[in-house]
Amino acid sequence: MNLNCDIVRDLVSLYHDGLASESSEAAVKAHLKECERCRGYYKQYRLTKPVPVNFNLYSSGNYGELAKHMRVRRVWMLVAALAYVSASLCAFVMLLMRIRRK
Ligand SMILES: [Zn+2]
Repeated sequence: MNLNCDIVRDLVSLYHDGLASESSEAAVKAHLKECERCRGYYKQYRLTKPVPVNFNLYSSGNYGELAKHMRVRRVWMLVAALAYVSASLCAFVMLLMRIRRK
């Protein structure tokens, strides 16, 4: 498949992030090999594009690692919620005891 430069520039971000389909990736790669201008564009794109912190978890297809990461986060949120509820309950009980004493 022969792509023109505009299409290649549209696909460069997907290609760079590893999200393009196999045929798109092959076509972009072939075009970059031939086209000096698009190679320059891609080089510039790589230099200027910020990489998100957790992007590797998503782009590498490592969903097991991602699921583990989310599970741990969920457990910590649960622990925080339980701590908040039990602290509130303690404060409420102490308030009740103080009211009854009077
Ligand atoms: Zn080109």
